[in-house]
Amino acid sequence: MENMEFKLKKLSKAEIGTFPTPIHRLYKMENKLNYRPIYIKRDDLTGIGPGGNKIRSLEFILGDAIKKGKNIIIGSGPIQSNLCTLAAASCSKLGLKCILVHSGDEPRNCTGNVLLNKILNVKTHFIGNVTKEERNKYVNDLYRKLQMEGKAPYIIENGASVGLGAIGYVNASIEIIKQCREHDFSIKNVFVPGGNGGVAAGLIFGNALLGMPFKINIISVEDEKEELSKNIENIIREIEVIMDMPFDYEVEKACNIIDDYRGGGWGQNTIESAQEVFEFPKEEGIFIENVYNSKTVVGMIDMISKSKVDGGVCFLHTGGFGSLFAQF
Ligand SMILES: *Cc1c(COP(=O)(O)O)cnc(C)c1O
Repeated sequence: MENMEFKLKKLSKAEIGTFPTPIHRLYKMENKLNYRPIYIKRDDLTGIGPGGNKIRSLEFILGDAIKKGKNIIIGSGPIQSNLCTLAAASCSKLGLKCILVHSGDEPRNCTGNVLLNKILNVKTHFIGNVTKEERNKYVNDLYRKLQMEGKAPYIIENGASVGLGAIGYVNASIEIIKQCREHDFSIKNVFVPGGNGGVAAGLIFGNALLGMPFKINIISVEDEKEELSKNIENIIREIEVIMDMPFDYEVEKACNIIDDYRGGGWGQNTIESAQEVFEFPKEEGIFIENVYNSKTVVGMIDMISKSKVDGGVCFLHTGGFGSLFAQF
């Protein structure tokens, strides 16, 4: 652990969030499922904007941008992208300029993350319904244009789900184990959503180098197991280079990737996940959104009910609160 902490300390980091995020029990869920202990790790409370996992990633990505003397940050994604809003809010705090590029048309109703972006007064390009590749091309063109004007732009790639962003979750794995030791939490299974695989890759890497104290269960919200596994592997290769530490495991042996709860893929509800958006807050007073965390909670509850896990369980809540307001 000391070696990992030493390597992490050498990386440039913008201190934007509030850490450690709390871990606490979900007593009502424990009673309902007759299973204990069940914990929640509150990465929905990372301290900037509506919070969420991307703040951990942005600390390292924006730290890198600042170190390189960059001062215009370009974020891109779909209209309700959590990354875009959290990037804009973080740039406000750090005094950096931020530009957002959205695939999609400017919505007539300013809801969810779009409203937050408007309040932040961030310059936003709506470029219509284009593919991810076309959006990336637009971003690259914008980058070159700004460079030509003598400015210092910096692109946040792939919704921050890249090696440097995933470092935030290598860091989080150390944070969780320290909290377990300090507070006597008994956590064996961690449940997290898997989109592009950044959160997953960081946790898997950190957990493996810590000697596998946890079993990392990744609930895919988008792709089939093979595809998500490949994406995670690619990000882990980037982490290896950044940390200068080898990862000598097969991804699928170092974690448990589950693709049974993703329904039609990204943003496509299942009947159960649509219900869970209402069930979970009613029991726990904590809101979950409909793309990532509802499917993760459904998967976790189902696996507990079917006795597919043993020992203490922890749901890592990745936030996304801003998008919830545009999902109904
Ligand atoms: C981006 C995001 C994730 C996870 O994304 P990965 O690409 O798998 O790292 C999970 N939850 C929320 C709310 C997000 O915004």
